Amino acid sequence: MSQESNPSAATGGAQVLDGKATAAAVRSDVAAGVEALVSGGGRQPGLTVVLVGDDPASQVYVRSKDRAATEAGFRVETVRMPADSAQADVEATVRRLNDEDAVDGILVQLPLPRGLDSDAVTELIDPAKDVDGLTKDNIARLVLGQDGLVPCTPAGCIEICDRHGISLAGKDVVVIGRSHLVGKPFAQLALARNATVTVCHSRTRDLEAHCRAADVVVAAVGVTELVKGSWIKEGAVVLDVGINRGEDGKLRGDVDFEGARERASAITPVPGGVGPMTIAMLLANTLETSRRRQGRG
Ligand code: NAP
Repeated sequence: MSQESNPSAATGGAQVLDGKATAAAVRSDVAAGVEALVSGGGRQPGLTVVLVGDDPASQVYVRSKDRAATEAGFRVETVRMPADSAQADVEATVRRLNDEDAVDGILVQLPLPRGLDSDAVTELIDPAKDVDGLTKDNIARLVLGQDGLVPCTPAGCIEICDRHGISLAGKDVVVIGRSHLVGKPFAQLALARNATVTVCHSRTRDLEAHCRAADVVVAAVGVTELVKGSWIKEGAVVLDVGINRGEDGKLRGDVDFEGARERASAITPVPGGVGPMTIAMLLANTLETSRRRQGRG
């Protein structure tokens, strides 16, 4: 549904961008793509997740990825390694997966246990199989505007805009957060879409003033409701990437949702906004790598 056709926008409340439904639509497109690839004589795409240690949150993420990828028709494998694995053993696993033809996508679940160098492990992933888009090769491609693999969360933010008819061209976009995983790649993607981009961070002097001037606010900070509703310009679009668990056990975003929705034209909720898009984009990336590696891109 486009912003223009959203009935709630006309009554002053923002259109709530439903990430669950959007992610389901992406996953269903991916499943259709997998079916077309296989029925056209191609090989079933393969995704391998490397999970080192037994961090409970990582276990949950990996299970969700496994389920979603299986449902979309992928061949999925999880390589589990003990928390006290040596750096050399984790690196050897990545090298082996680089060499396996049936593996189209490699995802090393982060964070790795303390003592392991995650940058070194990430950098070993074959860029053609780097479905998280975290290798230097793919980062350089993003900056240079070349075809490559884009980190899943910022790609999900763009996809949610695209699928709701929200254009970034010519807009003043404020990104709060400058991580390699979200803030910086999103800023590059928005630039590539002809937005005028400001990246804010913990040393930004007047965050409120930047937000008040923005047509689009993307919050990727990790601080509960840092962005107040009154900071949102009338009619702005708000994408809330933050996932913060409150003392009551409930998940909240980086934006005061109730306050912001009064002023925004469109806003993603937490949970159920950007979050579900991440796995959907992982599947989209894996299908893409598989097509390219099979010469069917
Ligand atoms: P991160 O690496 O911790 O980066 C946080 C960024 O926020 C940093 O650039 C930091 O600035 C900035 N920041 C911290 N406090 C600030 C403040 N008071 N004012 C302005 N900027 C501030 O986090 P991340 O990995 O990007 O994740 C951000 C949030 O998104 C987290 O809540 C995370 O759980 C969530 N997340 C969600 C998904 C998903 O939806 N699937 C995926 C990834 C992350 P400095 O650089 O100056 O320190």
